[in-house]
Amino acid sequence: MKLYSTNNKTYEVSFQEAVFNSLPQDKGLYMPVEIPRLPDDFIENLHQFSLPEIAFRVADNLLQGIIPSGDLKAIIDDAINFPAPVVKLTEDQYVLELFHGPSLAFKDFGARFMSRVMAYFLREGEKELNVLVATSGDTGGAVALGFLGVPNTLVTILYPKGKVSPIQELQLTTNGQNIRAIEIDGTFDDCQALVKQAFVDAELNEKFRLTSANSINISRLIPQTFYYFNAVAQLQREGKKDVVFSVPSGNFGNIGAGLLARKMGLPVKQFIAATNANDTVPTFLNGGIYQPKPSVATISNAMDVGNPSNWARIMDLFQEDQSAITKLVSGYSFNDEQTKDAIAEVYHLYDYVVCPHTAIAYLALNAWQKQHPQQENTGVFLATAHPCKFPDVFSDEIAADIEIPEQVLELEEKPKQADALGTDYASFKAYLLAEEGTSV
Ligand SMILES: *Cc1c(COP(=O)(O)O)cnc(C)c1O
Repeated sequence: MKLYSTNNKTYEVSFQEAVFNSLPQDKGLYMPVEIPRLPDDFIENLHQFSLPEIAFRVADNLLQGIIPSGDLKAIIDDAINFPAPVVKLTEDQYVLELFHGPSLAFKDFGARFMSRVMAYFLREGEKELNVLVATSGDTGGAVALGFLGVPNTLVTILYPKGKVSPIQELQLTTNGQNIRAIEIDGTFDDCQALVKQAFVDAELNEKFRLTSANSINISRLIPQTFYYFNAVAQLQREGKKDVVFSVPSGNFGNIGAGLLARKMGLPVKQFIAATNANDTVPTFLNGGIYQPKPSVATISNAMDVGNPSNWARIMDLFQEDQSAITKLVSGYSFNDEQTKDAIAEVYHLYDYVVCPHTAIAYLALNAWQKQHPQQENTGVFLATAHPCKFPDVFSDEIAADIEIPEQVLELEEKPKQADALGTDYASFKAYLLAEEGTSV
């Protein structure tokens, strides 16, 4: 498997290089040179396979032997060790639950696979890998729990003090081992600025092998294709076809993976890009121009992105053909009021609690199905996080009905371990240098 930069297709790198560097120097995004189609008989018989079996076939098809079968199987069995069930709400509406991993969000698929692939490529005796991440909540938890206990890696996570939810903070700060959390007395942007500066610091790069666990890393995108195949597998068992996926979107990695899955041969009738008030992409899909904007804060805050970093990848997948994109991908955006109403509606109709991100995907699916009443379809909206991660948005009645998963209850027993720093770069750098070699 070779990859090119979306900004320069003649610049090709190995999978390994794309995994460790995340981004090409030219600020494009890495894309596979070849995206082979899976055999028809595999696609038609998805229903015969389990999630790890599907994951292996799909990954092997893309990686083309870069990681030998036995090793790839072991990575997948270790990374994808939780289910992704499709739950039926009505004859034509299903919810794909992606929140059964350790951080209770779909980002576990990407983070767990990426961490294991990185560890695999680190040869015996090589310099420890230093992962630096700034998080506003969800990414950090997935990365921390994804790398926890992975040999030869040390993860440093920066999060804004008082600005992540209690469960997110538990996931960031109770790990120990090779994970350390720094509570920054500032905003998410401050955290991000510190990390960015560290990545271009010559002295730090000399001393450490730094990497970002960035959401645009190709090794996070690949495992996100697995659950689209596995969802179709489950629907095949129910005799359902003409699948329409509604994806709550922020940086557009998740829906990008769905489009990649389709490119590999997965039959999908339509994709729906569902956003909150950060509607850069729906505006474009509905005939407007593509105009990135500063993000605005909403209650579905993991999707507060005004300039989606994976969009260039999606354009590239469609060879920049705008009419092809707008045919296959429909866009809708909803405000906080509508999101709260949708949470209440799903609760009262189906006795089911959705997180605010998931509620937006539900709204978008309804809107699309209403606009296409003649079309036979099986609608699936993606549930990207467990509702317990966002306790503030629910009415007391609904909040009382949210079951706290086992993973969280276990964390509550553990002490918080976080170092505290301000927003100045000099102290952050001194911290990194002083703490050198303290990992297990
Ligand atoms: C990250 C995230 C999203 C957005 O996913 P993208 O791949 O960035 O589009 C949606 N919902 C939740 C809960 C998330 O954590």
